Amino acid sequence: MTEVPVLIVGGGPVGLALAADLGWRGIDCMLVEQGDGIIRTPKMNEVNVRTMEFCRRWGIAERVQNCPFPGDHPMDVVFVTAMDGYELARMPRPARSDDPPGPDSPMVMQACSQTWFDPMLQDLARSFSGVKLAHRCRMESFDADANGVTAQLNHLDSGRQAIVRARHLAACDGAGSPVRRKLGIGLQGKMELSRPLHMYFKTPDLFAQLGIPRGTFYLAIDKNGLWANVRVIDPRAGLWRLMLLDTPADFDANNIDCDAWLRRAIKRPMNVEWVGHSVWVRRGVVAERYSEGRVHLLGDAVHQVSPTGALGMNTGIADAVDLGWKLEAVEKGWGGDRLLASYDAERRPAGARNVRHATGFYQGHLNFDKGIAAIEDATPEGDALREKLGAQLMSGVGAMFRTRGVQLGYRYDDSPICVADGTPAPADEAVEYVPTARPGARAPHAWLENGRSTLDLYGRGFTLLRLGADAPDNAPLSAAASACGVPFTSFGISNPDIVKLYGKKLVLVRPDGHVAWRGDALPGDAANLIDRVRGAANAV
Ligand SMILES: Cc1cc2nc3c(=O)[nH]c(=O)nc-3n(C[C@H](O)[C@H](O)[C@H](O)COP(=O)(O)OP(=O)(O)OC[C@H]3O[C@@H](n4cnc5c(N)ncnc54)[C@H](O)[C@@H]3O)c2cc1C
Repeated sequence: MTEVPVLIVGGGPVGLALAADLGWRGIDCMLVEQGDGIIRTPKMNEVNVRTMEFCRRWGIAERVQNCPFPGDHPMDVVFVTAMDGYELARMPRPARSDDPPGPDSPMVMQACSQTWFDPMLQDLARSFSGVKLAHRCRMESFDADANGVTAQLNHLDSGRQAIVRARHLAACDGAGSPVRRKLGIGLQGKMELSRPLHMYFKTPDLFAQLGIPRGTFYLAIDKNGLWANVRVIDPRAGLWRLMLLDTPADFDANNIDCDAWLRRAIKRPMNVEWVGHSVWVRRGVVAERYSEGRVHLLGDAVHQVSPTGALGMNTGIADAVDLGWKLEAVEKGWGGDRLLASYDAERRPAGARNVRHATGFYQGHLNFDKGIAAIEDATPEGDALREKLGAQLMSGVGAMFRTRGVQLGYRYDDSPICVADGTPAPADEAVEYVPTARPGARAPHAWLENGRSTLDLYGRGFTLLRLGADAPDNAPLSAAASACGVPFTSFGISNPDIVKLYGKKLVLVRPDGHVAWRGDALPGDAANLIDRVRGAANAV
């Protein structure tokens, strides 16, 4: 029998991110994935700003930035009657090489398909000697007890059976999650928003063939409404995905005429190579529980979000980052008995929030003027209608591309291991990110010297920022941390803009980069503060 501290089931992006984060933290783990790890028809294409911040921490941001998606390809979103029809509106989004970081993050969103991103996470995970990735290996069953989990593994190529004993099981086993089902954890929300159809095709330089300006994401609207989108996944290889937002009632999954759907989306017969298709269920659901004893669930296993807003994987990777440091703390002995329970308390509301946003973005697709029969008429009335619709689509449907607040603004306001400071909670805005160093929030970015970000200070252990010339002495907190083995460093900042941004003279930031506590003076009982933020049972 093999023994490991953490067994991860599922080698999609979320399981890989957890394996990588644990490896980065020096925690041994084994990941089992029933597939071979090769992505043939990628779903995920947008690695959002927050995930890029984690990639920066892990040292792979540059690799993601240099992925094969051309740096000079405009990321424009284009509303069309058909790709070779009328352009209704264009939302310019700069090419990656022309997109400098905004004031609130050192990173920018990247178009990096799963075809490239998952192998980068695999390589990162493999770079740590304590991480073992086992592909073509299925977890057939498991039994959980008070001290851990015993899992039966099946190596699919050799047929060899194996037993693994782990102190923690992390289920990153996707939407169908056998682990979630076995634990009887239900899903809450909308079990079926629609049944989309994906069709992947290859064709060399479609833009040149059609003589249209380049973009990345095309939304097709005809007299029946918004019905499909067409996305370029890999411009160099000419790989595209056509997605039907919903399949009609009389749809026959055994008899799909991909050419006909493409003809409708482009308005011209095309000779393309079809490389795959699938029908799936669009949901907006979140699990009733994220943990049960020593089993923790992450990613699509516990939240299934409509792809509108590109939040699925990105939310799952934030799950992995939240759980990663807590597993490290418990394994290294400085995490308290209540620490792992805070994973559910923090990440379930964050999952529900993102499900809410993504479902709202999808519902916005269906919510605009219905009297659009003249949308393709070459008449002045047709022109006027297209202009009006274009503006409506930009402000309504376009909202799913303006999500900086969603990406960066999630907070753990009610976390049992963050200490509220009594300041009012800022609004949770979808579009605008409002930086705040309020406990529970992502500690804001600001540039330090030499191209360093404040975010570069966080990751390993707790970091106490001492802000301003008169920041109090942190010795009692440092001593309290060291007394229970909590990794702790402090960092002085005098830049008045950063002092103002963080709002207090002392700000304690957790290993995941969220604020645990802040104040102008240390509390009288520094040991109690450390106990609270490390999830010790005796903290008040
Ligand atoms: C059209 C579309 C576009 C999307 N675009 C984006 C986007 O741009 N950005 C974004 O953030 N998200 C996007 N998403 C969502 C994203 O693809 C998913 O949220 C993400 O893949 C979930 O990752 P995961 O690791 O949780 O699950 P999965 O990727 O489903 O991985 C689960 C893995 O577990 C394995 N597994 C299951 N059971 C076992 C077992 N018993 N033993 C061993 N292995 C097992 C499976 O083989 C699978 O590989 C999109 C989704 C769709 C449908």
